[in-house]
Amino acid sequence: MPTTFSPTCIVTIAELRSYLATARARGRTIGFVPTMGALHEGHLSLMRKARSENDCVVVSIFVNPLQFAPDEDLQEYPCDLSRDLNACSSVNADIVFAPTPEEMYPKPLDTKVKAGKLTKTLCGASRPTHFDGVATVLVKLFSIVGECSAYFGRKDFQQLVMTQRLVDDLSLPVRIVGCPIVREVDGLAMSSRNVYLNTTERSQAPMLRQALEAAISRIRAGEKDPAAVRAVMRETLTKASSAEIDYAEVVSAVDLSIPKPLNGEIRLLVAVRFGETRLIDNAGCVIPDKP
Ligand code: AMP
Repeated sequence: MPTTFSPTCIVTIAELRSYLATARARGRTIGFVPTMGALHEGHLSLMRKARSENDCVVVSIFVNPLQFAPDEDLQEYPCDLSRDLNACSSVNADIVFAPTPEEMYPKPLDTKVKAGKLTKTLCGASRPTHFDGVATVLVKLFSIVGECSAYFGRKDFQQLVMTQRLVDDLSLPVRIVGCPIVREVDGLAMSSRNVYLNTTERSQAPMLRQALEAAISRIRAGEKDPAAVRAVMRETLTKASSAEIDYAEVVSAVDLSIPKPLNGEIRLLVAVRFGETRLIDNAGCVIPDKP
């Protein structure tokens, strides 16, 4: 039987700072995994990676109200701290930081981070305030945790690219580590929001992955026109009759621009709505300069 131990649950900023100051004074490196809880294997994969690379692993669980628009699912967002603590325990995380909204935002913020043009397209087009909320909470969390390696899933690819840029632009002492997307056996990317899907929607949800695979096959067959690649993804997504397509796009993995013709490191991204539930997925591929 592998030995596991319970992580210490910390709810105040002061206590987390004090704990980490002691850890650093002892020469310990810090691995940080920011989450909104409702943990699944995708989150646990980030924690395992952090565990393998650091002396001390901190997981934050905070459903950040700033990144939800008024018509989004903040109130319904799944939440079960004791289950999440068990999950963190199973991967030997040291600390779970689970502040209340009042601890994080004791007064209305007068200072917020404004994310730049990387966040104006894709998810940012239909969620215009989302990335400002993410950027603001990340700057706050990075400031609380301090120098660390921080682990993010490629599942939220635009968030990952924005976060790397945020850290570069503001010289934050954080090394960003991107981690692979973890999927269910039928290919659906794991997400805390998958629990909202009804049986029909759940059976159609793997179409997101299939759309990405169809597009990658077309690119491997030589397609370099972004419009043609978008059309392949849309054609597959249309087979999910309960889904409404938000976007199906192909971009540069570096700056999220649309290369014409497609070349270099590219990323295919899709977002669809099943009723109120919005799902995203993406996949990468490299197109060599010359055939
Ligand atoms: P969330 O709790 O949804 O804010 O996600 C916290 C972190 O977990 C983010 O870095 C996500 O990209 C990552 N994550 C969520 N789902 C997955 C997944 N299926 N595979 C890998 N990482 C994931």
